[in-house]
Amino acid sequence: MLKKTSHFLREANFIGGSWVEADSGAAIEVTNPATRQTIGTVPKCGRAETRRAIEAAQEAFQSWKKTSANDRAKLLRKLHDAIMDNQDALAELLVMEQGKPLFEAKGEVGMSAAYILWFAEEGRRVYGDVVPSPWADRRILVTKEPVGVIGAITPWNFPSSMLARKLGPALAAGCTAVAKPASQTPYSGLAWGVLAEEVGFPKGVINIVTGSASEIGDELTENPLVRKITFTGSTEIGKLLMQKAAGTVKKVSMELGGNAPFLVFDDADLDRAVEGAIIAKYRNSGQTCVCTNRFFVQDGIYDRFVEKLVEATKKLKVGSGLEDGVQQGPLIDDGAVEKVEELLADATEKGGKIATGGKRHDLGGTFFEPTVLTEASPRMRLMEEEIFGPVAPVFRFKEEAEGVAMANDTSFGLACYFYTSDLGRAFRVMEGLRYGLVGVNEGLITTVEAPFGGFKESGLGKEGGHQGIEDYLDTKYVCIGGLGL
Ligand code: ADP
Repeated sequence: MLKKTSHFLREANFIGGSWVEADSGAAIEVTNPATRQTIGTVPKCGRAETRRAIEAAQEAFQSWKKTSANDRAKLLRKLHDAIMDNQDALAELLVMEQGKPLFEAKGEVGMSAAYILWFAEEGRRVYGDVVPSPWADRRILVTKEPVGVIGAITPWNFPSSMLARKLGPALAAGCTAVAKPASQTPYSGLAWGVLAEEVGFPKGVINIVTGSASEIGDELTENPLVRKITFTGSTEIGKLLMQKAAGTVKKVSMELGGNAPFLVFDDADLDRAVEGAIIAKYRNSGQTCVCTNRFFVQDGIYDRFVEKLVEATKKLKVGSGLEDGVQQGPLIDDGAVEKVEELLADATEKGGKIATGGKRHDLGGTFFEPTVLTEASPRMRLMEEEIFGPVAPVFRFKEEAEGVAMANDTSFGLACYFYTSDLGRAFRVMEGLRYGLVGVNEGLITTVEAPFGGFKESGLGKEGGHQGIEDYLDTKYVCIGGLGL
């Protein structure tokens, strides 16, 4: 391990500007999914430590909210620079706990820095309104204020950038934060504490706790000092958090599951579609909420698409994320592999054919072969359930409307992709798809400048874009009367 990487490997929680253990002294082990070796431990905190973190954040909020947007932006720009100065070390840490290839990890860390910079800039453009008054002697102002302490709960698949999307707008808006990273990948989360301290954020502005998800989650959702919950993770836990947050009527932002369709029409540029398919399916070994879960390919191009997809899939190099040239790391844990196996068994029982892959990789552990499954049908469980692994099921359709209907036949609505060279069809299909993100002839579309967020049960609220800061602000109407005008 590089010396700089070990600097970011913090086995403590960051509360009120101090690095602390769990009250009980209990700890959770963190393992490297590629080697299955223990990397280290992190505190197993619960309600009491979380309450202290919330109180520290509330105290810090009293002065942080009064700083100017420009001063906050200056600190955020320093944070951006610190992330980029340490990009290699942070990426290596991310690979060790998460497993993705190093080039993807570097990309993620770069994206984290980009979110911080974007919101440093957006924070300076939080405009209110002066509204024409219906009364001659009164004036109307509309102002925006930070909501207060926010609770951020993040998943293991993007342990760095999912926090950047939440901390960036929160801090820029003048909020303070208590963050809970996933237990599988806590170090990339705790690294935000190391960076915050080094850059000089005031104590308590950023707090990071690890440990029991339900205990920390319960405190964050029930404590009235927390005014907003922002969550990225499964739809199941998202619904639970929404219910719990209802008790104190907190704002909520939810980035939940996806079930992304990827449609290829007969008139598509085939090579471009295959290139897009590989990145939309296999990035992070299929473990992203915008990963293609279902390919829908029109009859006339089906066989040629499958042939090329299989050829490209076979070329993917599987191995430890730190090895040169590796494109596919291990899955996060045994549960993830078992889920993939279950869905594949169900699909093959219902008529699906394995065109390549289909089983655990010879490397052992949680490595799985990149897989293409043909003759997929809507009766299969993977029509509605997220695979979250390197399996590409390919469905067949005949008419455009049928393809769009199949793509929409899900309770999810996060990302979708489609390939066509017909402009009219591009608009018809784009307008017909009920998804929050649409890639037209593109398989990777996330960028800090654009709003990211789902429709239907994929979530609420947007992250990124100028919209991404709105959820961290309260709008206040002020009526000034008695002006004697
Ligand atoms: P995944 O299946 O991707 O792990 P989860 O929704 O289970 O998705 O996890 C996402 C985040 O939510 C993680 O940080 C996890 O620890 C946290 N989490 C899980 N259960 C709860 C809960 N009951 N309350 C609060 N947070 C939870």
